[in-house]
Amino acid sequence: MFASSAGMLNRHQKQVHALDGIDLDIYEQETLGIVGESGCGKTTLGRTIIGLIAPTSGQILFDGQDLVNASKDAKKSFNREIQMVFQNPYTSFDPRFTIIKCVSEPLKIHTNLRGAALTKRARELLEQVGMPGEILHRYAHEFSGGQLQRIAIARALALNPKIIVLDEPTSALDVSVQAQIINLLQDLQRQFKLTYLFISHDLSVVQHISNRVTVMYLGKIVEQNTSEAIFEGQAHHPYTQALLSAMPSVVKELRRKQIILEGSVPDAANPPKGCNFHPRCPVAMPICSIAEPVLDNSGAGHPVACFVVNPIEKSTDEMIQ
Ligand code: SF4
Repeated sequence: MFASSAGMLNRHQKQVHALDGIDLDIYEQETLGIVGESGCGKTTLGRTIIGLIAPTSGQILFDGQDLVNASKDAKKSFNREIQMVFQNPYTSFDPRFTIIKCVSEPLKIHTNLRGAALTKRARELLEQVGMPGEILHRYAHEFSGGQLQRIAIARALALNPKIIVLDEPTSALDVSVQAQIINLLQDLQRQFKLTYLFISHDLSVVQHISNRVTVMYLGKIVEQNTSEAIFEGQAHHPYTQALLSAMPSVVKELRRKQIILEGSVPDAANPPKGCNFHPRCPVAMPICSIAEPVLDNSGAGHPVACFVVNPIEKSTDEMIQ
């Protein structure tokens, strides 16, 4: 939740639920894909998990310990375990610093490595991501986007984390380079037993890399299932179906009839009443503007928040009363 200001003197503070009721498990060594349009809360979720944004309520449990309410020292130790790679590699590095300074920064903060040992570790990290160790004394502006994203991944690996939050790690890159980065991430995951939270609006990439998929809309989860099921006909939420219908496919039989969604994700400061997808939903019913669906396994056998999938027992008239 965030406070947003309204009025010239900012006297009227309004609470904005950027994320609301999120209940999510990430299993060891899996890749959990988080999908949705811009503004659906994906990046906020990633930044909250890594501690860049403090939630106003709730818990983030890591190995059974709450990251939100942990002491300062405990938070510092969690910082070693969870790292993040950001979308834009060009803004991920301070242009005044050499690559060794950028890559070794987390090592200096969290370890006693210094001098030759620090340089050796930085060189080793670069080599793990396919970059030559000789670049240590060069600057970020001397590299392409794909090379910089490799260096960003090297920096994320520096402290041997367990979880890496990957926030649209390939969307600023050329298509040919995207494939190389995805392959690198998969190799590193196998080698270091990493767990990934993979945030992306590109469903083709998510299908390729994810074990499970969580679909978000306006700060809430609307559907969760295995990647295989979501992409092979078991997507039940109308929003998931609309996202999937926009996926290009070279195989004619796999092409879906495109569902065009009108408008864009609403402002989180003024969410629609009832199901917050109802103004754009192609199958919305009268009940949808009154009541809010909850994530429920009963209709589809996996969590979906929709009254078509999990019919509500009360009638619209009863809900209005
Ligand atoms: Fe559409 Fe209603 Fe389902 Fe929301 S609850 S997704 S508006 S059918």
